[in-house]
Order: sequence, then C-alpha cells, then structure tokens
Amino acid sequence: MGYENRKSKIASLFPKEPDFRLKQIETAMFQKEVKCWDDISTLPALMREILNKEVPFSSLKVENIYANGAGDTFKAIAQVASGEEIETVLMKNPRGHFTICVSSQIGCAMRCGFCATGKMGLTRNLEAEEIVDQYRIWQTYLAGRPELPQLISNIVYMGMGEPMANYENVKLSLQSIFRNTDIGETHVTVSTVGVLPRLEMLLNDPDWPHVRMAISLHSADREIRKEIVPTSYDDFLPKLADWSKRYLKRFGNRRHHLTFEYVMLRGVNDSPNDARLLANFSNSIGDIRVNLIPYNFTDCGFQSSTKESIIEFHEVLEKHGVTTTVRKTQGEDIAAACGQLIKMES
Ligand code: SAH
Repeated sequence: MGYENRKSKIASLFPKEPDFRLKQIETAMFQKEVKCWDDISTLPALMREILNKEVPFSSLKVENIYANGAGDTFKAIAQVASGEEIETVLMKNPRGHFTICVSSQIGCAMRCGFCATGKMGLTRNLEAEEIVDQYRIWQTYLAGRPELPQLISNIVYMGMGEPMANYENVKLSLQSIFRNTDIGETHVTVSTVGVLPRLEMLLNDPDWPHVRMAISLHSADREIRKEIVPTSYDDFLPKLADWSKRYLKRFGNRRHHLTFEYVMLRGVNDSPNDARLLANFSNSIGDIRVNLIPYNFTDCGFQSSTKESIIEFHEVLEKHGVTTTVRKTQGEDIAAACGQLIKMES
C-alpha cells in the first residue's frame, strides 16, 4: 500500500548512521520547539537536507481545528497521505491538563448501532506514526496557544476505529509515546468493543504496555448487546468475564483497574433491571469500574436516556457496590463527542 513506516524509511536513508542518530531524530520530533527537520540543529546539514526531501515531517496535514463554545474542547480534522480525513480531539480534564482522544483507523468495521463512525465502514488501519502524529498535532497546537495549559497528561484511544482490530500499530504507537513523552502507562486508556482474540493476545504479549483497558459493554444482557453491538455473539459475555478475571489477575492493582463503558440509550439498556444485570455481571468478575456515557446525538435512531434514569441507574450500581462514574460530555457542539467522529458536512 506504500504507507512506509517513518522510522524504517529514515533508517534506510542513512544506513551508515549509528543508532543514536535515529534515536536523536525521534526524540527531537517530540519537542515542542521543533516544527520541521531544519529545527533539529544538532543534525548535520546534509542529513536535514535529505530528510526535507524524502520524509514528510508529519504524516498528517491539519485541515481545520474547531473549538467548542466553552473553549475546553478542540477537534482537528487532518488529512493522511492517501487523502482521507481523520479526527482527533483535545479536551481539558478535571485536573486542568489536557486529554487527547486519538483515532486508530480510518472508519470502523464494527458498525455499533449508535456510533457515527460505524456508518462509514472501514477504509484502512492507521499506521503507528499516523496515530502518534495526532499527539504531535496537539503539542504543536498548544505551543501556539501559550495562554492554554500546556500539559497533555492523558491519552484515550477512543476516536475513530477499533484499536484492537489494529493491534500491532496501536502497540507500536503506545511504545513510541512511552519512549518519547512523560505520559505514564496508567494515563492511557485503550477502549475496545471487545475483540476477544486480540484481548487474549495482549495478556500473553510481553511487549504490550500496561495501559488501562476499557471495554465497550453497553449491555450485560446477551440479546440486547447483540442488538446494539452487531459484532457480539451468544457466548460473548461469559467469555469476556473469563478474560476479565485473568486480565485483573495479571494487571490489576490499586491504580490499574478494568472499565466497562456503557452508553445510556433510552428504553434500550437503561432500566433499573439493566443496571442490576450489569452490577451482577461486574461483581462476578471483581474490581470493575463502570463508566456511564450519555448518548451523544448521531443520526442513528436512538435517544439519550433521561437525566433521572441515568441517576437511578447510577444509584442501583453503587448500591450493588460497583464504582461508577458518569462521563461528562464535552464538545458536542463541534461533533467531537464520543461516537460523533465522522466527517462533518460543510
Ligand atoms: N471502537 C472502540 C472506541 C470507540 S469510541 C470501542 O468500541 O470502544 C469510545 C466510546 O464511545 C465507546 O464506548 C463507544 O461505544 C462510545 N460511543 C460510540 N458512539 C457513541 C454515541 N453516539 N454516544 C456516546 N458514546 C458513544
């Protein structure tokens, strides 16, 4: 397909250079003040010239950045070399730093009924550098907005795409982030619809970074889940429970728990009985956090649960001892909220 990996391309351009040079280039690319190859003043001039000619400084071209009304969320639309567009989001977090939300694929094949990205179908996986460059977009953006907090403290893989369907590139992107930034492993969350063979793989993968995982459960009822998450199947829930127990045994500790995400859809999965099912399912596993996500409007025929039913659902979970948070929705007015990431019609 010709999406050459940047690192190997640079290595092939300079076969005689020692490893530290390649490391030096990689480190420099993550520095705020470095905006093009010429800014890496420690490199020999000839190397910079070759890089200028042969390697784009970023795999992404920013087309537009939108800010929401509250000024706490920003969405970038960026073009990849093959011409398609992807989206990435920068949002203020409760600690006053920034969390970025990155896309892992162009489109998505999972077709969850309530998600706008699912409607696009899948075009292709993103390369690791195309994921990492979303971080670099925001770093550059913040450098140009000195009045904003400057620290990107968290990353969530919750943009377009299913990260576990792009396992190798997601892993490479995580490794690059941890090599080149101060972001710690428990400050990164990878969200997945629950691609069990891949989840199984990460349990036995010595190179998989110990990031937090969030599973998009959305229902603890077999039939309801199959209805809203079409990739689900009859024995998904018991298999997920079994995996989750082994995951927690391997990675779980005070700072590292497992999250179940749950989009609240009116009349579909939001009754007190649904909450009890979810509580029993979670409690049968162990230390599970539930994150309730208010449904963000997409043209999918679903409606958001009422505030009252979200509160009641939350109460039932807490009463059963399940630690639960309700996600604050940010950026809905610029279609930057969960499940809204799709090219906006202009
Ligand atoms: N493919 C990954 C990442 C998806 S986006 C996954 O399935 O986890 C992150 C979260 O947003 C997922 O839990 C997803 O189900 C949820 N989401 C999708 N559409 C939504 C919508 N319209 N409103 C609220 N949340 C949504």
